[in-house]
Amino acid sequence: MTAQDRFPWPNDARAAVSLSFDDARFSQLDEGVPVLGRHGVRGTFYTPPERLRERLADWQAALAAGHEIGNHSLRHSCSGNFVWNARNVLENYTLEMMDEELLEASRRLQEMLGVPPSTFAYPCGQTFVGRGIDRRSYVPVVARRFLAGRGFREEFLNRPWFCDLAALGGTEMDSVPLEKLLATLAKAVEQGQWVIFVGHDVGNLPRQCVTPETLDALCAWCRDPANGIWIDTVARIAAHVAAVRAKS
Ligand SMILES: [Zn+2]
Repeated sequence: MTAQDRFPWPNDARAAVSLSFDDARFSQLDEGVPVLGRHGVRGTFYTPPERLRERLADWQAALAAGHEIGNHSLRHSCSGNFVWNARNVLENYTLEMMDEELLEASRRLQEMLGVPPSTFAYPCGQTFVGRGIDRRSYVPVVARRFLAGRGFREEFLNRPWFCDLAALGGTEMDSVPLEKLLATLAKAVEQGQWVIFVGHDVGNLPRQCVTPETLDALCAWCRDPANGIWIDTVARIAAHVAAVRAKS
């Protein structure tokens, strides 16, 4: 098989979509999960474990309803160039530190949820540790520990025969008008790709937010059989991609 061949998505779907939400904002539970539930859509929620504790029973219920809760590291470490980030700075990490941190985050999530997370989202979409000649990619650490790793604000959609499951592209949906999201989906359908949307809050905030109306319309479009979309969690779609590639 080549990257050009049509990928066998379930039920003859022409493209795959995952809706992912980061950092366990309360609005995801209060506004997002009900919208997804109305459409029978299962979403993926990436969060450091301590954020879950604040509303643990609600997150456990979301998991029981079929949503996925994934690893998003322990300390949400990003570059020190973000002015809000003084303490947990990727430039000061080593691969060993990151590996230990991801293991500990998975251990705590498993302790709270009863199941280990199988996928990961890179905080701030950043995949490196260290600086200068000591800078390294931690994608191999993620590849060893998880079925899949998701980035943020990539320009590409994921080609199912080709994509690196440990470095999947995430497409921002915060503050993006519905027409633009649907245009992305049309492109995915045309090219047989997998779109992983990334959002934060659900509501009417000025930034890092998708409105309930946009989310509702997006779910409705993806669930309309005429549009040929398989919409499911990152873990379920990644498992399908891995299984199909293993057989071919
Ligand atoms: Zn995050």
